[in-house]
Amino acid sequence: MLALGGDGIGPELVEAGLRLLETVCNEQGIELSIEYDLLHGQCYDVHGTFCRDETVENAKKSDAILVGAVGAPQYDGIFVGAEPAIRDGLMRLRQELDLFAGVRPVRSYDFLRDSIPFRSEVVRGCDIVVLRELTGGTFFASPRGIQRGARGREAVDTTRYNEFEIERHLRVGFELSRRRSHRVVSVDKANVMETGVLWREISHEVAADFPDVEFETMYADNCAYQLAVAPQQFDVIVTDNLFGDILSDQAASITGSLGMLPSASLPLLAPRGEASRPGIYEPVHGSAPDLVGTGNANPVAMLLSVAMLFEYAAGRSDLAEDIEIAVQESLAAGVRTPDLGGIANMTEVVDDVIDRWRRREN
Ligand code: NAD
Ligand code: MN
Repeated sequence: MLALGGDGIGPELVEAGLRLLETVCNEQGIELSIEYDLLHGQCYDVHGTFCRDETVENAKKSDAILVGAVGAPQYDGIFVGAEPAIRDGLMRLRQELDLFAGVRPVRSYDFLRDSIPFRSEVVRGCDIVVLRELTGGTFFASPRGIQRGARGREAVDTTRYNEFEIERHLRVGFELSRRRSHRVVSVDKANVMETGVLWREISHEVAADFPDVEFETMYADNCAYQLAVAPQQFDVIVTDNLFGDILSDQAASITGSLGMLPSASLPLLAPRGEASRPGIYEPVHGSAPDLVGTGNANPVAMLLSVAMLFEYAAGRSDLAEDIEIAVQESLAAGVRTPDLGGIANMTEVVDDVIDRWRRREN
C-alpha cells in the first residue's frame, strides 16, 4: 500500500492510521508492505508539482492508498500545467485512478449527544452513506478560468456529466443500499440545471433495475435542509461531485465533528468479501491548519478510514467491524478530543482504540 500524508494535520493522522493498520496486520498475520510519498503542498515544495507521475504509477499498482489531507493557503492559486486537476494532488490521483465512487459513512452516536448541535431525538440512530461522485462534474469540466471581460474580471466553471458517469455512480449507490436498508435518495438540481435533468432521468432508469430498493429523488437545497431537520429518513444519498462535497460536510454535523467522517474512494464496488482496488482511504475533513502542532486533531475519521480499508481493499468486513466497535467503545468511555468536548489528545485516542481492539481479539 501507499501512504501519502499530505499537508497540515495529514501526516500526523496517517502516522496514527498506520499504527492501527500495522497492529491489526501484525496480529492477524496479514502481509503488509508500505511505501511512503509526498502529496500536494509538501510535494510541490520538493518537486515543483502537486502530484508526481511516479506517485500515480505507484498508486495504480497499490491495493490501497492511505491519505491524510491536502491543502494550505500558501498553495491556493498555484497552477502547474494546463489541466485543472493538476492544481490539486488529491484530485489528480482520484481522476487518474478513476475513483469515482466516494463512499462516506455518517453515524450519529447517542453517547455523543452533548457534542451534537441537534436534539437527540432528531439524530439518534442515524446511519447514512453519502455517495459522492469524485471524478467528474464542476470540479473537472472545461471550459473554466478567469479572464478580463467587458465588466472587469470574469470567472467561468462548467458542470458536465455524461450518461456513463452518472449511471455507474448510481448503480454503486443501489448496490450499496442492498447491503443496508434498501433505500436510495438521488440528489440533484433538476429544476434549474441541465446536468440535473439528465441525472434525474438516469436515476429513474437505474432505479427500475432495483425494484427491491425504495427510491426517491430530492433537490440538493432541500437535502441540506432535511439533513438538519430530519436526518433519520436517509439511508444512501447518491449525488454529484459538488453537492456531495457540501452535503458530506453538512452530514458530519449530526456526528458532532467533521473529525468523525471516514471515506473510501473506489473505482468499482466489488461483491461483498472481495476487493475493490485500488482505492483511496482518507478522512473527509481537510488539513485543518488551525490544529497543526496541537496534537489535538481527532483521529476517528482516520481510524474509521483504516476500517474501510480492511472492508474494501481486503474484503475483510469482519476486521472493519472490530475496529468500528473499538472506536465506539472508546468514544462511549469518554476518550475524546476537544472537538467532541473531551480532553484526550490524538495519541491517547489511538492508544485507547488499539487497546480495546486487542482486548476484543484476545
Ligand atoms: P477543514 O476540514 O480542514 O477544517 C474545517 C473545520 O473542521 C476546522 O475548524 C477544523 O479545525 C475542523 N477539523 C477538521 N478536521 C478535524 C479533526 N480531525 N479534528 C478536529 N477538528 C477538525 O476545512 P478548511 O479549513 O475549510 O480547509 C483547510 C484546508 O484543507 C484547505 O486548504 C482546503 O482546501 C483543504 N481541504 C482538503 C480536503 C482533503 O484533503 N480531502 C478536504 C477539505 C478541505
Ligand atoms: Mn470537502
